[in-house]
Amino acid sequence: MSHTPPTTADWYDHEDGWLAPYAMRSALSRGRRHPEPDHPYRSLYQRDRERIVHCTAFRRMTGKTQVFVASVNDHHRTRLTHTLEVTQIARTVARRLRLNEELTEAIALAHDIGHPPFGHAGEAALDDCLKGHGGFDHNLFGLRRVDELEERYPDFPGLNLSFEVREAFVKHSGRADAPECAEFRGSGGPLLEAQVVDVVDSLAYDTHDTDDALGLGFITLDELTGVEFWRRAAERVGRHTPGLSGNPFRTAVVRELLSWQVTDLLDETTRRIATANVRGVDDVRSASAALVGFSAEIRQLKAGLERFLRERVYSHHRVLRMTANGKRLLQALFAEYVRSPELLPEKHLRRWTGADALVGPPPPGWVTANRQPLSGLERVVGDYLAGMTDRYAQQEYRHLFLPSTEL
Ligand code: MG
Repeated sequence: MSHTPPTTADWYDHEDGWLAPYAMRSALSRGRRHPEPDHPYRSLYQRDRERIVHCTAFRRMTGKTQVFVASVNDHHRTRLTHTLEVTQIARTVARRLRLNEELTEAIALAHDIGHPPFGHAGEAALDDCLKGHGGFDHNLFGLRRVDELEERYPDFPGLNLSFEVREAFVKHSGRADAPECAEFRGSGGPLLEAQVVDVVDSLAYDTHDTDDALGLGFITLDELTGVEFWRRAAERVGRHTPGLSGNPFRTAVVRELLSWQVTDLLDETTRRIATANVRGVDDVRSASAALVGFSAEIRQLKAGLERFLRERVYSHHRVLRMTANGKRLLQALFAEYVRSPELLPEKHLRRWTGADALVGPPPPGWVTANRQPLSGLERVVGDYLAGMTDRYAQQEYRHLFLPSTEL
């Protein structure tokens, strides 16, 4: 039998044959900001996913804190491994619900790309520094990163991702009233693919933060017996695999927590889609409440686990000490670069000054060659800091503030 290579049209047929009626189809995408011809054999969202994996901000997530700084050991989650866990769980959910897997994966791979160094403490520090200049939100920074700041293609700034992947940053942000969100305002509620990533994000971090906190000795298995979700997952493990203890027990309970949540998420989401009589993407867009979510029982169990994590892990003195340090470091760098912009690497300085001048405000309405709108100095410094890894921020701090004549 002869084999003809698949085309874009074949892919559309494949999606029509496989996807649920409420899944997003590539043929219906609102497309890219800078129109591009279809690739001969890679689909729209597949290209988005691959562009994200190839970009600089994606690789930098290796060096960004999820909860624990990179230096405490070599195997707790970083921003990147968290992202990979979210992506594969989200893909499982998408496949089972017959949603668009490639779109789901692209959204998941990009969902934390805008996180600054030092986790949420870093975000709070930058938000504080940029008060009066629009503040800082990792979702909106993620959007700017993929729209403007990544420099990879000669014909357009950023990654030129599809509308649906870009939109997920905005729908996930608490600042959807910001001016850069205007183009997404009329599109209605988030797609199911974006809702899946949002919910799976919390599923993944509740579980892996518990696992990491155990691994690092912040909490003990004994203490977790006071958390109903953990205790009941442990009982389930005891029933199907009795006699486990220590690490094998811990990993079995973590696995049980994951599969319990995923199964519940699939059942509850299927139920909601049926109850709300969702028959297409338009129904998803106009739904009055989230369609992807957990049952009331799991929501309550998760809330209990989250309370425990907040009290015993996220506010553990070693975590707070680390975050206070990261915050101080970013604030010091921000103040120093704003006071002495000539210390910025030229590429970043030029985003503020335009052309060749070293200092001074840009002419009004000035736009750079790659069409980036010119930004205020504070925004330029904020973007520079937000793009750093933990290690690079620490190194820049040492270069700027510790006695050294290193170049
Ligand atoms: Mg996340």
